[in-house]
Amino acid sequence: MQVRFWGTRGSIPAPGPTTMRYGGNTSCVEVRLDDGALLIFDAGTGIRALGEALLAHPGPVRAHLFLSHAHWDHIQGLPFFAPAYSAGTELTILGPEHEQLTLAKVVMGQMQSPYFPIPMHAMAAQIEFVKLGEGSRVELPNGATVEAGLLNHPGCTLGYRLTANGKVLTYTTDNEPFGDAAPSQHLAQPSRHVSLAREADLLIQDAQYTPEEYQSHRVGWGHSTYLDALHVAQQANARRLVLFHHDPSHTDAEVDDIVAQCRAALAQRGLPVECLGAAEGQVLVL
Ligand SMILES: [Zn+2]
Ligand SMILES: [Zn+2]
Repeated sequence: MQVRFWGTRGSIPAPGPTTMRYGGNTSCVEVRLDDGALLIFDAGTGIRALGEALLAHPGPVRAHLFLSHAHWDHIQGLPFFAPAYSAGTELTILGPEHEQLTLAKVVMGQMQSPYFPIPMHAMAAQIEFVKLGEGSRVELPNGATVEAGLLNHPGCTLGYRLTANGKVLTYTTDNEPFGDAAPSQHLAQPSRHVSLAREADLLIQDAQYTPEEYQSHRVGWGHSTYLDALHVAQQANARRLVLFHHDPSHTDAEVDDIVAQCRAALAQRGLPVECLGAAEGQVLVL
């Protein structure tokens, strides 16, 4: 299984000279299974460049796109996903619905006037929508499975657990796993989100804030600190932790510092968890 990060930023794109290494595009992760099957997690602005890369190869594009939720930073790139305008493309879009809105309406809404010049009907691809919710389980033809679970984030937001090729990848962004619990209680009260990440070979987890930022008026906003991410990895016995959904205000140097602090905290606890900061263009092999 090969994982490539096309967008790692949270909330809003943050291009510029201070975000060159970790990247400025919002959430999009490409996963290639050993048989070539393509799974995409989220359609933030990073999915535009993924689309161009896919069209550079011959043959039709077939993909399963799992949306965590419909906040802008997770869907905004979809209207610019060029393979969607190609008649040969088969795209299955899976994700949660929002109150009375079907998944199709949630996704199409951002392409309606006056928000966008072209309606979603202009997309020539064969597009299928699949509603997912807490406990949903998707079985792909090649034997891979994806399980969904609700995260703690405003609105209905899903985390995903992919099992394929003998490996487990967990994608839990936009998640405040311990809610209002005091930091001292985090290990005593395992988050229910931990089950999605149990024994994960790779855990891609929200780590938007420093602990200081979190305590400063950001409790309840639905995001994590690197310590939250560490606690999830520890409780789940995950092997590799990727800090994801970087705050748009964080420079490369600040993300470096967050990664270093997380590694130091892991070492201090004697935990054999490898920690990385998600970087646009980075490829990981499981
Ligand atoms: Zn987000
Ligand atoms: Zn969100």
